[in-house]
Amino acid sequence: MKKIAVLGSTGSIGRQTLEIVEYHPERFRVEALAAGENIGLLAEQIRRFRPRIASVATKELAERLASLVSDCGCRIVHGEEGLLLAAGEHDADIVVTGIVGCAGLKPTLAAIEAGKTIALANKETLVAAGGIVTARAAARGAAIVPVDSEHSAVFQALRGSRKEDVLAITLTASGGAFRDRTREELKHVTVAEALKHPNWSMGAKITVDSATMANKGLEVIEAHWLFGLDYDRIRVLLHPESIVHSYVEFRDRSIIAQLGMPDMRAPIQYALTWPE
Ligand code: NDP
Repeated sequence: MKKIAVLGSTGSIGRQTLEIVEYHPERFRVEALAAGENIGLLAEQIRRFRPRIASVATKELAERLASLVSDCGCRIVHGEEGLLLAAGEHDADIVVTGIVGCAGLKPTLAAIEAGKTIALANKETLVAAGGIVTARAAARGAAIVPVDSEHSAVFQALRGSRKEDVLAITLTASGGAFRDRTREELKHVTVAEALKHPNWSMGAKITVDSATMANKGLEVIEAHWLFGLDYDRIRVLLHPESIVHSYVEFRDRSIIAQLGMPDMRAPIQYALTWPE
């Protein structure tokens, strides 16, 4: 039985992680949950998954949540201190980092210090502090398993190979909601249109970042730190179907790619079950 902590449990990654736990109750147990403000959904999750600890953004939210789940035996904590407890102070083997933005950095470091395996969705952690995070993980012997679909694909394609044999990696990009628009048309787009991703169902920030393509820039930085490759060996290719999630080209010019339907539950499940 693997014990897991889910940071950002009320978000897109968090909810899909808990779906996987529900599919495999014999394999996973939830030790800790952390969310921001959605205490209604968090209360339901606490009732269903019975974590030992749960964290929310503020003291006031924590008090309201505590009254909603007073019969569940769950310790309710709050604020940054609470988030750090939910990240590291428990028996979980693996911590899923599904918080959005740089708020994910400190809890990821706390989980690394506690020796947890990191199922890393929060790419901002590596964009903001990749050097620090990867050095701490190496020093603590904490594995970082990517959840981002492109990086999961590269991680899978690299299994069993030697780093010195890698020529380059290519991250595929769907192109987001505006991939077929002209520069002129882009002047009049709206947030609502940016939020309609053609292939993937994700949280709001990453969906907008996909429409602007800024997400792919963040992913190149994420790949640099995850795989220790120079930037000139990380490429990006537009692939509107989102079936080839990414590929690795080796020195003998052979290519290993990972393919699948565009469904985040696949890379999340891969990270949770790794190294199987
Ligand atoms: P969402 O916006 O759907 O969810 C964000 C989660 O973070 C929510 O649970 C939110 O809580 C919580 N949260 C936000 N701020 C804080 C805070 N200060 N303290 C504690 N919890 C907080 O985001 P996504 O799930 O889409 O993305 C999460 C991360 O995963 C991002 O870094 C994203 O780039 C990455 N990612 C996401 C993918 C996806 O398919 N969604 C794919 C690949 C990477 P609440 O709602 O309760 O306030």
